[in-house]
Amino acid sequence: MEKHYQAIIIGAGPSGTACGITLQQHGINHCILEKSVFPRQKTCAGLVTKKTYELIQKLYDKQNIDALFCDTSSRIKLYRKTELLTDAPLQRDIHLVKRKIFDNALVERYQDLGGVLRQGETGITIDYKNNRILLSDGQLLHYQTLIFADGALSISHKLLDVDKSKLAFGLETYLPASLFPTKSVDIYFDYLPNGYLWVFPHGDTVCIGIANQYQKGCDYKKILSDFLSDYGIDVSDIQYVGAFLPYGYAVPQEQLPDNVLLIGDAGGFTDPISGEGLYMALKTGICSAQSIMTDNPKKNYLQSVRPLTDIVKEGKKVQKIFYSPAIQKRILAKLSGKQKLVSFFFENQVEEYHYKYRQILQMYHDYKKDNH
Ligand SMILES: Cc1cc2nc3c(=O)[nH]c(=O)nc-3n(C[C@H](O)[C@H](O)[C@H](O)COP(=O)(O)OP(=O)(O)OC[C@H]3O[C@@H](n4cnc5c(N)ncnc54)[C@H](O)[C@@H]3O)c2cc1C
Repeated sequence: MEKHYQAIIIGAGPSGTACGITLQQHGINHCILEKSVFPRQKTCAGLVTKKTYELIQKLYDKQNIDALFCDTSSRIKLYRKTELLTDAPLQRDIHLVKRKIFDNALVERYQDLGGVLRQGETGITIDYKNNRILLSDGQLLHYQTLIFADGALSISHKLLDVDKSKLAFGLETYLPASLFPTKSVDIYFDYLPNGYLWVFPHGDTVCIGIANQYQKGCDYKKILSDFLSDYGIDVSDIQYVGAFLPYGYAVPQEQLPDNVLLIGDAGGFTDPISGEGLYMALKTGICSAQSIMTDNPKKNYLQSVRPLTDIVKEGKKVQKIFYSPAIQKRILAKLSGKQKLVSFFFENQVEEYHYKYRQILQMYHDYKKDNH
């Protein structure tokens, strides 16, 4: 049997479901193909900033939104190794999600709206020339637009030579909260050459992880175990999970056929300094759906996500400067004891993108003006 869709989305993570929910709300004929069966695990620290929260409100049932979150926090602490540099209060709580629950809730929302999700599709073959996909059961699906939402190791990257060296690798573990009690968002520098370590509250557990520009041969497990040992935690039975994430490489999707769009991690959409990807996943998902409803989806999609592409490109330049050892040493020394500066940066840049990365000096100037 053959089926015809205006759009087919590959992947039902946050970017895929954000796209699917928006298409479904507008009655666009489409489906999602997903290799896993939900609920499924996803390696992620689950930090939800204000801008992400606001997109979730648009996509999810507002009345039940609180059930999505496993914790909140109103402080951010910065460390250099184990030395506390700053403990900064935030005006507004940060939210945290457990991805297994969060992603499943978005999938259920999509299905409640009548969206067609085909789970467990592990053997798809894409025929780009004829705009169709062959499923493992022999069914043929035709598309007008194909949307890759299949994560950092997207199938589409084979067409574009995107390899792991352009990505970051993250490793994390979950411990009972009693073993590492914290109610703040804790960021540790100096454990990794080009990334950071985090400890986030997750209800009755804490999420402890690292992410760094991917380097073959780097012993990520040892870095994390050494940190835990520094805090007196017995690491012999600890389970770690790892995953790749984009880290400042804007995938050149304009080189793909005109009816192929990349969203979320598949398009390289994460913040190159914080590693935050949920905001861009939801945003690019929504933008891609909106572009499908226009006469030139690819052109309009690329135009609507331009501000995000700028963040990826400019953030990559700032990342290189921020993680150069001499400069980072000076920046951390400057942040020491500067609660207001850390709060200002977090609330204006990380939470809301009020400033672009190229405006970082302007941001510092505005902070000085407000706090002289
Ligand atoms: C260690 C780590 C910590 C992170 N912490 C945070 C954080 O605290 N806050 C934050 O905002 N971001 C964080 N991120 C980034 C965030 O997890 C991602 O940016 C986000 O998940 C991207 O969503 P997505 O829908 O694009 O991709 P994904 O969430 O990866 O979803 C892709 C989906 O596609 C499916 N798929 C893959 N291949 C195929 C295929 N061939 N066919 C069909 N389906 C397929 C997968 O099964 C999956 O369901 C973190 C990432 C890592 C690795």
